[in-house]
Amino acid sequence: MADDCLFCKIVAREIAATMVYEDEDTIAFADLNPQAPVHILVVPKRHIPDIVALGADPETSAALVRGIRAVAEEQGLSDFRTVFNTGAGAGQSVFHVHAHVLSGRPMSWPPG
Ligand code: 5GP
Ligand code: ZN
Repeated sequence: MADDCLFCKIVAREIAATMVYEDEDTIAFADLNPQAPVHILVVPKRHIPDIVALGADPETSAALVRGIRAVAEEQGLSDFRTVFNTGAGAGQSVFHVHAHVLSGRPMSWPPG
């Protein structure tokens, strides 16, 4: 657990969140500021700052993809968008890697 990391605190249940999924390596919870009718954050329990660092950890990478798959399956999502913001310039505001899983409305392309 990293000091002062919001998502580590959610993993540790020190900050409340609406949990939608948990397994040994990942948790998923509702985004506080949803951008779609379904907006779930899938997070490894291990503190890893971003997808670049995640790529150096094959086991956690696979675990996170399994978590995304499980969330989609459990929520009955056939069409959904998965986003990893990386770096403040791309919109990352929490530096504990997380997949945004967005669904329930049409998704335009290119993204904003
Ligand atoms: P990022 O901007 O890093 O890609 O995504 C961070 C996400 O975390 C944002 O979509 C934001 O709404 C969400 N978020 C920020 N603080 C909290 C919180 O305390 N609880 C939950 N559930 N989501 C949060
Ligand atoms: Zn963390």
